[in-house]
Amino acid sequence: MKHNFGAGPCILPKEVFEEASKAVIDFNGTGLSILEISHRSKEFEEVVNETESLVRELLNVPTGYSILFLQGGASQQFAMVPMNLLPENGKASYLDTGVWATKAAKEAKKIGQVDIVASSSDKNYNYIPKDFVIPTDSAYFHYTSNNTIYGTEVFDKPKTAVPTVVDMSSDILSRTLNISEFDLIYAGAQKNMGPAGVTLVIIKDELFGKSGRTIPTIFDYEAHAKAGSMYNTPPVFSIYVSMLNLRWLKAKGGIDVIEQENIIKARTLYDEIDRNPFFKGTAALEDRSRMNVTFVMDTPELEAEFLALAKERNLIGIKGHRSVGGFRASIYNALTISSINALVDTMREFEEGKK
Ligand SMILES: *Cc1c(COP(=O)(O)O)cnc(C)c1O
Repeated sequence: MKHNFGAGPCILPKEVFEEASKAVIDFNGTGLSILEISHRSKEFEEVVNETESLVRELLNVPTGYSILFLQGGASQQFAMVPMNLLPENGKASYLDTGVWATKAAKEAKKIGQVDIVASSSDKNYNYIPKDFVIPTDSAYFHYTSNNTIYGTEVFDKPKTAVPTVVDMSSDILSRTLNISEFDLIYAGAQKNMGPAGVTLVIIKDELFGKSGRTIPTIFDYEAHAKAGSMYNTPPVFSIYVSMLNLRWLKAKGGIDVIEQENIIKARTLYDEIDRNPFFKGTAALEDRSRMNVTFVMDTPELEAEFLALAKERNLIGIKGHRSVGGFRASIYNALTISSINALVDTMREFEEGKK
């Protein structure tokens, strides 16, 4: 058995893979593959409706918000957000916590004026800036709730009265949220919701048409909302597999239950990193992510040796991102505690081998 710690696309529950593989041959007894059914068919309409209600139910989404399933990944949202929310003479505030946040701000700068309210680039993004001022005349404030590459996470929403937009690609569905604190949430599915190809957007309806700009229809949130995510052919299979994964999450007991598991998984791994003299964590203690655990060793030669041992022990995808180095264990919802234990055991085995 392989333990997949990959950052994304990443692990999904085995049951989800099994059910999805059946639907590729025969979807719900229709005699057709999920890959060939019409996106306008009654059967697929039911899939989209169920996926939407599962998101609403699991995340407790209040009325007044639309749920969209779009394409183009989180990266397309970097551009869609300012197109839809940033007026010609307005400005937007961005918190710079790493590569994804920087990319989001860079795209917004192509559309209008951007203020970077704070940045943790001085320490290679190993912490979340805390004290900063968000100008009250900003059209919106944007931040990245979980920094997939650096292993930092924003647990408390920064306080501001301006509309708040969050890239939750790598921690959506991992912990409880008060959705009404947010105005727009987006997440590429491939980290914690489903396979690559679909992007979840939860948007307050009040934001439709806010920028006053004339934008291409395909980038207009309101057009997608009006069409029930069927403005054009949606990513049928990715939505279907996301639905299966949301069903799995609901059957497990929902976000409260998965959050408790995620806390235990992260603590187990961080405890070993802190105990084992060969490893050390890279993120500031109070900002440690529960989804992506980044750690290093003092000597690069030993890192190669540990990676080789990890490979032998069937631990996949733990090489760190090139901008941090060392290791990164992505421990999303579907990764089990037994995979965490396999990694911890391998770290101990490595330590023992050096005695
Ligand atoms: C992976 C990731 C992205 C990029 O997502 P794409 O779907 O590949 O565009 C953006 N933001 C965060 C936080 C990510 O983890």
